[in-house]
Amino acid sequence: MLTLEKSYKNFAGIALAIAFIIILFFANSYLNSDNLPSGYALLTVEIGEVEGGKVSGGGQYKEGKNVTVKAQPKEGYKFVGWQKNDETISTQKIYDVNLKQSKTITAIFQEAATLTIKKGKIPGGTVEGSGQYKKGENVSAIAKPTTGYEFVGWEKNNTVISTDKEIELTLENDKKITAIFKLVDSPVENNLVIADGDYLKALVTKDTYLGRYHPADLKQIPVEYTHDGMHLELREETLEHLIVLLNVAKREGINELVARSGYRTFDFQKRIFANQVSRHGSEEQANIVSARPGQSEHQLGTAVDFSDSSGVLSESFANTSEGKWLAENAHKYGFIMSYPEDKKHITGYIYEPWHFRYVGIETAQKFKQSGHKTLTEFLKEQKQYFEKIDTN
Ligand SMILES: [Zn+2]
Repeated sequence: MLTLEKSYKNFAGIALAIAFIIILFFANSYLNSDNLPSGYALLTVEIGEVEGGKVSGGGQYKEGKNVTVKAQPKEGYKFVGWQKNDETISTQKIYDVNLKQSKTITAIFQEAATLTIKKGKIPGGTVEGSGQYKKGENVSAIAKPTTGYEFVGWEKNNTVISTDKEIELTLENDKKITAIFKLVDSPVENNLVIADGDYLKALVTKDTYLGRYHPADLKQIPVEYTHDGMHLELREETLEHLIVLLNVAKREGINELVARSGYRTFDFQKRIFANQVSRHGSEEQANIVSARPGQSEHQLGTAVDFSDSSGVLSESFANTSEGKWLAENAHKYGFIMSYPEDKKHITGYIYEPWHFRYVGIETAQKFKQSGHKTLTEFLKEQKQYFEKIDTN
């Protein structure tokens, strides 16, 4: 009996609620007709000819209220603007309407196509023109190479579609194009020098030139870490990581590993190279074992030649426990072997199992993951900073 009474009460409650909703519904439709209660205005938000999205914000509000309306284009469409009496009043998707009296505004959508402009592997410039446009519109894509780079061409689906820096495309549908840049063929002949930028990733080859570049933060390597207590210098960050590397090596039983050379000035490299020329008989022959001044990684202050206690820099270093340990572990501390075996045709230099360059731990890891066999090839894909010098 008790339960029956309870469910009856529940039923009455629900019926009352339904009746209330019905009353509200009729009251609402009455109020939405022309007979607005005084002091109220009606905002009607419509969609134009192209059903390209959704709108919200319409309704009845107190006169003079600022009402926010929203237009949301659906995929494949773009929002063009709000119109009132065929005149555009805003191009913002979210717009505030001041409702002094009842009014109707219309959201205009149109079919859209997207142009996506990407850059190839070598980040040698900037591109302009990406965006959403009206379907069928003619749009321009522009590629601007930075100093030291050339524009090669535009690719679509891996096919070159143009070699012009600026092209016009008709966007019948979404398009993706890629701007391909490359390093200028011979920076040295073009009077380009490596400029301030990311010195850790600066490309130093026989085709680039450091000029009289001199790093600002050189520090002496504590003599207990150098061969025969030599006075050697490195840039600060490189030095910090070198010390960690040498301490770990020692802990792992690689007792004889030391630094044999570090930073070299332009003039010091000039003397070394002259020496090699008289030894080998020609500049060409000397240049296989030694860099010309302005072209040595040692001038960056981030390159280290390692040796065991003999101090000898030769291929046999690769077979010492010091050389083996370095080949396996140096990258963990940010150091990469610059001139690996059998890569003379790429690096320009013979195998130097003792010569490592600090590029930072993160970059060293990226290099390892990239699958590149030489640092030279990897660095060519990193942003390089060049400056044009006046030779007069
Ligand atoms: Zn070296």
